[in-house]
Amino acid sequence: MFDAHLHGPIAALGSLPDRFSGMVASSGPDDWNHCITEPMPRGFIPMFGLLPQEYYTYDLPTVLQSIIPAMHRLLQEHPGSGIGEIGLDARFTRSTPMEMQKTICLELIDLARQHKVPVAFHAAACDGTMVALIRQNHPDVPMIWHGFLGSPETAKILHDLGCIVSIGPSVWRPKTKLQQKLRQLEVPFFLETDYPWHYRLPGEDLLSYPETLVRHYERCAIALSLTIEQLETQCDGIAKVFTNFTTHR
Ligand SMILES: [Zn+2]
Repeated sequence: MFDAHLHGPIAALGSLPDRFSGMVASSGPDDWNHCITEPMPRGFIPMFGLLPQEYYTYDLPTVLQSIIPAMHRLLQEHPGSGIGEIGLDARFTRSTPMEMQKTICLELIDLARQHKVPVAFHAAACDGTMVALIRQNHPDVPMIWHGFLGSPETAKILHDLGCIVSIGPSVWRPKTKLQQKLRQLEVPFFLETDYPWHYRLPGEDLLSYPETLVRHYERCAIALSLTIEQLETQCDGIAKVFTNFTTHR
């Protein structure tokens, strides 16, 4: 059961069933340790990320000359890892102008290309800008768009650009458009928890990590009239592209 986007430390998630696997994202230097200091269980890919809300206290030269080179070294020291989450966030343009966000995101895409590693994107309130950035650059590495809540049409555009959308529990927020249109998705997609930052339905019990992932698969399976096994097979199949990419380069 593949979780395309969760956060560490993975040791805090309890004992995980053997069939669990996923991509363990981080969002900045404070988080990178979660991907370094503990051995990742088999099937889990550590990802080194950098989000606008994590670098807003630095100026552009510091990010380019100090933080991104540190990520370069991490990728060298940890074969089999990836880059994520990185991206654009329109909610933080006051502290980090969108032009600076784009410059940094492009540098990180270049880093992924240089190391031939997968990338996980984060885009908040700027889907169109992010799609344009991917289209202009056409990174030839496996890509996911985590926490996707856009339209089936956008998912198709991203798929054609080589980017797989990943749907998290936030799709169950009341009245998200995608919730109503899940059946119209024409392209393969991932499921993710974004644990522990995942959305919980009002009044829902606090679930453990494994319960959160299983519950999300169950809900999606019901919405799509599939069995959990079918969904699991679908996501495991796409995941192979990412795991093979990181282990056979
Ligand atoms: Zn995340």
